[in-house]
Amino acid sequence: MAPTNHKATAIYPGSFDPITLGHIDIIHRLAGLFSELVIVVANSSSKSSIFSAQERCLMVQESLTDVPNVRAVAFDGLTVDYARKIGASIIIRGLRAVADFEYEFAMANMNRKLAPDIETMIVFTSPEYSFISSRMVKEVASVGGLVSGLVPAVVEKALIQKLKSTRGTK
Ligand code: ADP
Repeated sequence: MAPTNHKATAIYPGSFDPITLGHIDIIHRLAGLFSELVIVVANSSSKSSIFSAQERCLMVQESLTDVPNVRAVAFDGLTVDYARKIGASIIIRGLRAVADFEYEFAMANMNRKLAPDIETMIVFTSPEYSFISSRMVKEVASVGGLVSGLVPAVVEKALIQKLKSTRGTK
């Protein structure tokens, strides 16, 4: 492929329920490589989320006010369809450990089959964040554990609020 000077648009799809410092690290490291990095928050019904897609998007936006070319959108269709819709040629995914590999490998190949013109870029997590997952964060918070150092401050506050309100309805 001939070298070009202009930067591509990339998307970073995921559940982000909620966004963690691991996700933020990937975004900070990569945003400068692209003209725009769009965080695509999956509005999927197959995963039970504690935050609505709108709440998750808002937390992404609020955690990344220091990165000008990043925005968050909620989307519930095929990732490659969204990429095409906005003219993004790259899908970013993070890899924490070997356990992530098979899923990411299958997903990247499926996306390649669906859209050969869109490339998946896998980025290794920084070691200090490799143990963080949204699921673990929710588990720790649900039993009263401290999640500072795992998620941005806005997420920590939102988690406490959300868990209080869900307890109140039980
Ligand atoms: P999904 O439900 O699609 O896996 P997630 O929100 O859990 O969505 O993750 C989105 C992407 O971010 C995935 O590629 C995942 O491997 C990556 N990721 C998750 N946690 C971290 C982390 N701590 N550091 C770096 N990447 C991460």
